[in-house]
Amino acid sequence: MSDYFDEMGWTPLEDGEAPNHLIHMARLLRDFGMWDLLGQTTRLPPPASKSAIENLREIETTSSDSEQCPVCLKEFEDGIFAKCMPCEHVFHKECIIPWLEKTNSCPLCRHQLPTDDEDYETYRKEKQRELERQKDLETLHNSMFM
Ligand SMILES: [Zn+2]
Ligand SMILES: [Zn+2]
Repeated sequence: MSDYFDEMGWTPLEDGEAPNHLIHMARLLRDFGMWDLLGQTTRLPPPASKSAIENLREIETTSSDSEQCPVCLKEFEDGIFAKCMPCEHVFHKECIIPWLEKTNSCPLCRHQLPTDDEDYETYRKEKQRELERQKDLETLHNSMFM
């Protein structure tokens, strides 16, 4: 259970840090075991958006690359078109597309694609803003005390 939260970058609040209501909510869910009750048993982010899947770069593979598709572990054959994620990981179309229809992150490095899930996007933006705010605070702190 805690692994999931670690993976998602959930960190404990520090002294004086205002609770983010989404995180607070998720904590409550976790603490009371309600996460499972809500049907979030797969514990994966939502699917990648259709346009993100459609816009994945297609590359022609050659057997001399001797690279494997990380999903099915088969080597890429000559002249098939594979999908290349923004993180430069390459997969068979038929391997990566069903995956991205379940969750938006690269199976190898968890690079995330945009989703059509508004709640999740809001959460992601909040999280991003929080990181930026922390950075700003650090910058401010440094400029005041250096
Ligand atoms: Zn494959
Ligand atoms: Zn990747």
